Amino acid sequence: MALLQISEPGMSTAPHQHRLAVGIDLGTTNSLVATVRHSIPEVLTDEDGRSLLPSIVRYLPNGHANIGYKAMAARTTDPKNTVVSVKRFMGRGLKDIAHVENLPYDFVDGGREGGHGMVQLKTVAGVKSPVEVSAQILATLRQTAEDALGDELVGAVITVPAYFDDAQRQATKDAAQLAGLNVLRLLSEPTAAAIAYGLDHGKEGVFAVYDLGGGTFDISILKLSKGVFEVLSTGGDSALGGDDFDQRLFCYITQQAGLAPLSDVDTATLMVKARQAKELLSTNEETTVEAILKSGEVVQVTITAKTFAEITQPLVAKTMNAVRKAMRDADVSVEDVDGVVLVGGATRMPHIRRAVGDFFKTIPHANIDPDKVVALGAAIQANLLAGNRAAGDDWLLLDVIPLSLGIETMGGLVEKIIPRNSTIPCARAQEFTTFKDGQTALAVHVVQGERELVSDCRSLARFELRGIPPMAAGAARIRVTYQVDADGLLSVSARETRSGVEASITVKPSYGLGDDEVARMLQDSYNSAQVDMVARALREEQVEAERILLATQSALDADTELLDEEEQGAIARLMQGVRDATARSNDTSIDADSRQNVLHDAVQALARGTEEFAARRMDKSVRKVLAGKALDQV
Ligand code: AMP
Repeated sequence: MALLQISEPGMSTAPHQHRLAVGIDLGTTNSLVATVRHSIPEVLTDEDGRSLLPSIVRYLPNGHANIGYKAMAARTTDPKNTVVSVKRFMGRGLKDIAHVENLPYDFVDGGREGGHGMVQLKTVAGVKSPVEVSAQILATLRQTAEDALGDELVGAVITVPAYFDDAQRQATKDAAQLAGLNVLRLLSEPTAAAIAYGLDHGKEGVFAVYDLGGGTFDISILKLSKGVFEVLSTGGDSALGGDDFDQRLFCYITQQAGLAPLSDVDTATLMVKARQAKELLSTNEETTVEAILKSGEVVQVTITAKTFAEITQPLVAKTMNAVRKAMRDADVSVEDVDGVVLVGGATRMPHIRRAVGDFFKTIPHANIDPDKVVALGAAIQANLLAGNRAAGDDWLLLDVIPLSLGIETMGGLVEKIIPRNSTIPCARAQEFTTFKDGQTALAVHVVQGERELVSDCRSLARFELRGIPPMAAGAARIRVTYQVDADGLLSVSARETRSGVEASITVKPSYGLGDDEVARMLQDSYNSAQVDMVARALREEQVEAERILLATQSALDADTELLDEEEQGAIARLMQGVRDATARSNDTSIDADSRQNVLHDAVQALARGTEEFAARRMDKSVRKVLAGKALDQV
């Protein structure tokens, strides 16, 4: 469910102040941070102008850590203390990772308490959880962003794979918090890519996101409806990526050069050459791999793009099989798919693009750098969530109102005007009246929540309707309208219909409430429904008591002469009875039901005791109207 959330008015910033927010692609191999500047999403670079941060953390004996490029070389020299691809361990227990081979780390079972069952890694700097390792990466990205933007961030959108479960998502959130980042939202990686291409601007559609990175392949089928992306299915292969293409090319080169089995050093040298050749073949028809090996052998092999495509065809076919399976799982056919997005550096290979295009019978979206597309999409989302909305920007992924929007009525009670789960846009109006004679202003207090009492709901805004012409209590007719537009903006207006005086306010959305907070507020309302009903009945009785006291007093002020002394005394005693019962109605040592009953009886007694007085006043005003008038003039 997409959520509409509304800020406390005091919390909203001035409309022109840009709030710094970033999108973070926390990747297995590399991570990136991006933001939207002057309406254009861009990846931020570190002080050396690099946009990628290798997701590597090396722990040092002094307790410090090297992160990113600084940690890279230590992968081979100090593998135990150099954590690579920590994303694989996020939210995972020892059992979950048992199948991953050749991991150089000393794992410790996190246990239920401290580690929440998540694996931990023993390093020279102590035992580290994957959350702490990820937090080091995130903190580095945060620093890069704050240095580049020159100020503190209000928050970040962090992407996670679509298949991440709750534990993995929670671990990602925890890491962000540890890094001092305010998580505006976790966003699935394919959805971020779709947003980067503006696919969320359409009305409806099914989209495929084909993501081939260095070591993993993911395919996601998304459905967009009413501005909300739903992941219909995911699939892929966690051990298939660009590196496998390097491997095939390496085998081809050694075969063509007639090389005997190579030493580790020569293998590493030739693997690097193979990777370079693979990348060159994305833009060149052919390339020549040249190397002089430690063994003394000279390698010179020319490969054409056509040959490269042929020898790696089985890998491409493997990805397409996963695509077919994901399509079946989503129960969609090629004809249903409205667009395809390419993500991951390895999708630069032209034969991958052709295979994907041929399968989906469409040209895939590929003009955004496939390494940056996820971070850019996250940045766009972060920018919107932070409340930076440029003219023409589409607003957020909203569909329903998560919590009721109401108004405070007398006695601190809430009258719901737009109930929760109403689809937006929507508008509702309700009529109110004045409480006191001659009342010329009405305070409108806008609240959000399910509870009966204002004190248990969230205050959103207050404003006053002034200039109501003085009238008797209950005579004014004030129409209060709540309107939530498609952008999730709530406007409230109040209009006194006889005089036409009007006042209004717009409440800016700020997305301050998390899903869990909304859930808590709903749970509270269910748990306290009974208590709230009793409290409401008591408050209503108190309001009635106050109203009848005011009305009686103003009648006495106007027409005391209609009563003799004894009658005046009787009414005064009944009024005192109501005041006493009102005072006692706040005594919480007595149960609320009995307090309400006592007050109710006192109010009824006063109502009965003033019936005769009311009749005499009526006679008097009728006589006044009729005085000196002929019957036909009445
Ligand atoms: P990623 O994990 O998304 O950064 O993707 C990394 C993979 O993309 C590696 O296997 C790279 O060799 C591959 N890659 C990067 N640039 C190119 C290119 N121009 N042509 C083919 N593969 C590339």
